Amino acid sequence: MKTVLVTGAAGFIGSHVVDALLARDYAVVALDNLSTGDRSRLDGRAHFLLGDVRNPDDIARAFERPVDVVIHIAGQASISLSFQDPSNDLTVNTLGTINMLQASLAHNVPRFLFASSMTIYGNPEVVPTPENAEIAPVSYYAVTKYAAERYVHLTAARRDLTTPFDVTSFRMFNVYGERQSLTNPYQGVLAIFIGRLLRGEEIVIHSDGEQSRDFVYVTDVARAWVDAIDAPATFGQVINLGTGTPTTVNQLCDAVLSANGQSRATYPVRYAAAQLGDLRASGADITRARELLGWEPQIRLEDGMRRTVEWAMTAIKR
Ligand code: NAD
Repeated sequence: MKTVLVTGAAGFIGSHVVDALLARDYAVVALDNLSTGDRSRLDGRAHFLLGDVRNPDDIARAFERPVDVVIHIAGQASISLSFQDPSNDLTVNTLGTINMLQASLAHNVPRFLFASSMTIYGNPEVVPTPENAEIAPVSYYAVTKYAAERYVHLTAARRDLTTPFDVTSFRMFNVYGERQSLTNPYQGVLAIFIGRLLRGEEIVIHSDGEQSRDFVYVTDVARAWVDAIDAPATFGQVINLGTGTPTTVNQLCDAVLSANGQSRATYPVRYAAAQLGDLRASGADITRARELLGWEPQIRLEDGMRRTVEWAMTAIKR
């Protein structure tokens, strides 16, 4: 049985990756500082360690048992908070990744997977955007994520390594689904809309709502992470995870409202100024994920959204 160390394991995406790992009989060590994570998301079979990826002593505890694979998902995930507190964004996202790389090398871990982000493309010329598009971040968050991604791949390319170190980065687009925070106003536009609707609060759309996003369901994303562990074709690669189908924020809002028997005519929706670092158009070219991983998103937005709304209605009562 292989042991996988998952950082950010009590987070939205991390907890689903843990579920997918356990379903395939991996042993899981889960490291999280619970800054936005929640232990209740985490399957009790994972060995939980409260710790911070900025703290080498905390990381050392996570390697006390032999680790075969590191899945580094912990991160500061908010674009707006990256502008409010750039040094926190930098230390968590970039320094935290450097720390995880150093510890992985020190413990001869042969496999390392990293949570990168589509935000690194900025406002791309081509949508759907392939991985070889120009990198042009428009937020501090995207800068720290891209720096971390480059550290991962440059580390794997070091000529002084004496043991194998194979890396993969997933440039995830807008991931959504069950367990995304309904109360965190800084990350996850779909969960923010659903949370506001279920609490009877007005929905705020930044900009004119015609900006597009590529929403990909979290279990589809988790499957890609676990499939990649033993897929040599993905070694050394950066891989987009999206659906290829852009949805405008207005369309998203309408879908959330109509799933609850409402519309923009019946429910308070306010338009506000665009936020710093907002992107205009975003969509993934997923040819590489298809070719290297045989990966295909399976959950259509309407189905994933219905599941998310059903989950949210029970979660919000708790
Ligand atoms: P999340 O906030 O739910 O998960 C992040 C997890 O990391 C949380 O459990 C948090 O407690 C933990 N964490 C944060 N700082 C930490 C630290 N210093 N030490 C240890 N643990 C720490 O967010 P998410 O949406 O699940 O995102 C997970 C990762 O994926 C992030 O790195 C994010 O940048 C990246 N990402 C997310 C999306 C998306 O659409 N949600 C898209 C692209 C990339």
